[in-house]
Amino acid sequence: MNYPNRRHLIAGLSALSIAACGVPAPANQSSQQAAVPSDLLPVENPGFRNWLAGFRPRARRAGISAATLDAALAGAGYVPGVITRDRTQIQTRRTLEEYLSIATSDERLAKGRAAMARYGTTLNAIAARYGVSAHIIAAIWGLESQFGEKRGNIPVISATATLAYDGRRASFYESQLIAALRILERGETTPDRMLGSWAGAMGHTQFIPTSYEAFAVDFDGDGRRDVWGADPTDALASTAAYLSRNGWRSGLKWGAETGTGGPSGRTIQPQRGGVQFTVTRNFNVIKTYNNSDFYAIAVGHLADRLGGAGPLRGSFPPDANGMTRADRLALQRGLAARGYDIGTVDGVIGGKTEAALRDFQQRQGLPVDGRATLEMLSRLR
Ligand code: CA
Repeated sequence: MNYPNRRHLIAGLSALSIAACGVPAPANQSSQQAAVPSDLLPVENPGFRNWLAGFRPRARRAGISAATLDAALAGAGYVPGVITRDRTQIQTRRTLEEYLSIATSDERLAKGRAAMARYGTTLNAIAARYGVSAHIIAAIWGLESQFGEKRGNIPVISATATLAYDGRRASFYESQLIAALRILERGETTPDRMLGSWAGAMGHTQFIPTSYEAFAVDFDGDGRRDVWGADPTDALASTAAYLSRNGWRSGLKWGAETGTGGPSGRTIQPQRGGVQFTVTRNFNVIKTYNNSDFYAIAVGHLADRLGGAGPLRGSFPPDANGMTRADRLALQRGLAARGYDIGTVDGVIGGKTEAALRDFQQRQGLPVDGRATLEMLSRLR
C-alpha cells in the first residue's frame, strides 16, 4: 500500500502537542469523560445534507447496503470542530528538538515503562510472530495514543464524512468513509463503537479505515479485529503486521544518533544545525506509517529510551529568539516558581507558557507580547 496512514503526520503531531485525540464522546454515548466541546457535536448543515444525499448512491455502488448506510448515517452529522482542527493543525510546525521533547517527555516515558511492564508478554508474543521490535511497537502506541489513553472519541463516520464534504482532500476522505462503512457492513464493529480522532484515525495505534482493512489482525483469537476497545492486543499486533508487510527487516535497528556506534546507513539532519542521525531501511518502514522524518526519529528514539537508552548526546541550535532548550527550560522553571501553570516543563513554548509570560510582562509594566526571549529569561532568573 503506497498511500498508508498519511494522516498520521498531522494527527500524530496534534496528539503530541494538543491532545487532539481523546476528546470526550458525544452526549449519547457512555464515556468516562465529561462535557463535550460544543464544536465537536454534529450540527445541522444544509450543504452537508445535500452532499450526503449525493453520497448515498456512490456508497451503494461501492457495495454498501442500504441497511448499513441507514444505521451508520442515522446519528452522523457535520462536526465543525473537525474542520477547525484540520485547518489549525497545518499551521503548527514544531522543530525536531521540540517534537522530541514532547515525544520523550518524562510523563510519556513513565507511562511507556508501565505499559511495557503490563503488556510485556503480549508485546513479546507479537514481536516474535511478526519479527518487529517490541519497543518500536510500544513507541508507536505511545506516540499515537499515549499508550491507549487518547484513542479518540469522535464518531469516525461523522469525522470522515465532514472532511469528505469539506472538500480539501475530498477523495481521500471519501475513500476513508467508504472503508469505514465496509467495516460496519462486515460487522467488525458498530457505529457507536467506531470512534477515533478528528481525522478518522482509530484506536490505540490510530489506524485509518483503509489501513484497518488492509492490515488489522485478530491476534487474541476471539474472532474480531478490535482496535477500538480497552485491550490493546489486536491494535499492537495490527501495527506489527503493518510494519512487517511494509518491509521491516527483523533484528535491524531503525538507526541511531550519528557517531554513537549505531548501524551503518544514510545520514540525515532533519533540523539544520541539529543532531545528525544515521538511519537504516527500517527507518523508511516507520515512515510508511507516517511519512515524516520527525515522526520516524521520534518513534525510534522513544523505542530506544523505553529500552533503557539515555537522551541524545548532541544538541540543537538556538531558536528564533536566541534561546537554547536549556534557556527555555530555565524560563519555564522561573515562571513555575512564580506560581504560573505552564503545563509540563519541557522546553517547548506553548500557549500556557505564552499566557504566563504575558501576565508576567503586564505585571512588570513591560510590552506584552508573550515572547520567550533572553531578556525575559534574565528577568525571571
Ligand atoms: Ca480479537
